[in-house]
Amino acid sequence: MIIGCPKEIKPQEFRVGVTPNAAREAVAHGHTVLIETGAGLGAGFDDAAYIDAGAQIEATAKDLFAKADMIVKVKEPQAPERKMLREGQLLFTYLHLAPDPEQTKDLLASGATCIAYETVTDAKGGLPLLAPMSEVAGRLAPQAGAWALQKANGGSGVLMGGVPGVRPANVAIIGGGVVGTAAARVAVGMGANVTVLDRSVPRLSYLDDVFMGRLTTQYSDKGAMEELLPRMDMVVGAVLVPGAAAPKLVTREQLSLMQPGSVLVDVAIDQGGCFETSKATTHQDPIYEVDGIVHYCVANMPGAVARTSTIALGNATMPFMLALAGKGWKQACKDDANLLNGLNVHAGQLTYAAVGEALGIDA
Ligand code: NAD
Repeated sequence: MIIGCPKEIKPQEFRVGVTPNAAREAVAHGHTVLIETGAGLGAGFDDAAYIDAGAQIEATAKDLFAKADMIVKVKEPQAPERKMLREGQLLFTYLHLAPDPEQTKDLLASGATCIAYETVTDAKGGLPLLAPMSEVAGRLAPQAGAWALQKANGGSGVLMGGVPGVRPANVAIIGGGVVGTAAARVAVGMGANVTVLDRSVPRLSYLDDVFMGRLTTQYSDKGAMEELLPRMDMVVGAVLVPGAAAPKLVTREQLSLMQPGSVLVDVAIDQGGCFETSKATTHQDPIYEVDGIVHYCVANMPGAVARTSTIALGNATMPFMLALAGKGWKQACKDDANLLNGLNVHAGQLTYAAVGEALGIDA
């Protein structure tokens, strides 16, 4: 099969869909890999790295889309890319169609077969192509929050690990899933005093076990929040209620319970945010202040570490990419119900019920 990987054109997207290592594997399996010139630069991979891996460099996205049987990307195809998709072509990337009727309409019109990273599942019901980005965002959250705590950034001037004789930062992490666990790992590693709150007692038991006393767990309710807020230097929002907007767990009024210069890091901002005062920010302008509390609400946190994110995503997508290329999408999806769950669009038909429900289209 001919696998094509174009350069991402969505603003501020530096990741790339195929790493040189993934290209090398695909070539070893007998496939042809086409990479648009410069596609990997944002993640630190130049054209030479791909040529060394056995890939071929294409000068334009137009040529690449025209030649490839399967397009592998990161972000949902933008309008000019959607125009280049054709009937029978396979698209493997993040799509997030439910809130995006324009994209859905164009993908249906293209006649292409579109498999969305975010709905591919694993044997435990997890989302293996979303998890790596949650890992990245989670590990980045205390790092971003620690920076925001610095005086020059509006923070209270508290050092995460403290020093001998001076207490470390108190960090609360709301939601102990993939993001929350990764955030806890880094915050604990930085020497902070960490409390994780969740509504799932089994999840709290798990965290209690694996962190072996290095953090405190607490059931998440309003009382716990109000008890913790006056003491917390940083609160990380990492909740997810599948299929719903994030619940607002800290109100504007409750900000007054916090010490001035304390920091809120809202990782759940891509689901609307879990603090009432959250609004999405960018890497260029990541923080703002409300009532003396610093807010960090970057919606695409993994973009800040495009190289790590690209490699993590590539590791997760590669087996699926190889199965799709080796067997063709029909056989690959027949053999793997988890991959089949990724099928969102085929030949002008919406094939994913939840997207159909969200957009009022038969699926
Ligand atoms: P997850 O499903 O693994 O974990 C979510 C956790 O939240 C679960 O353990 C759940 O029990 C808990 N929860 C639900 N309601 C709660 C409540 N009221 N109080 C406390 N805990 C509650 O999800 P995840 O992969 O960790 O993702 C968390 C959030 O981070 C999502 O909104 C996701 O979209 C977002 N995210 C954002 C970025 C970014 O760049 N900003 C990147 C990756 C993920």
